[in-house]
Amino acid sequence: MSTWLQRTRQEARFYAAAALTVACLLPIAFTDTVSEWLGVEELLVGLLSLGLAVVGLVVFGRAVRCPRCGTRAVWQVLRTAPSDRWFGTLRKLQACPRCGDRAERTPASHTPRR
Ligand SMILES: [Zn+2]
Repeated sequence: MSTWLQRTRQEARFYAAAALTVACLLPIAFTDTVSEWLGVEELLVGLLSLGLAVVGLVVFGRAVRCPRCGTRAVWQVLRTAPSDRWFGTLRKLQACPRCGDRAERTPASHTPRR
């Protein structure tokens, strides 16, 4: 059974945004190492890492949009689901978390457009 992300053709976008977010969060875990590599203060690396993490989270939050109601589905889930289930909940979505649209097409809409 396909998921809402697949049916709305936003699955690749979702995973790309998730990977980017993880990449943006990594420097926070290694501020001392990054600071040594770059030869700058650890505080500066920490602040820049925090900014990068915020950018990553904003990109992730805006990555998936409901084609029907326009809601940012990731933000909706991050606000309502338990934090230990965010990713799983998002991956397995069967409908828009706000309007409930399942993004299922009628047989007539399966005809390829030219
Ligand atoms: Zn919706």
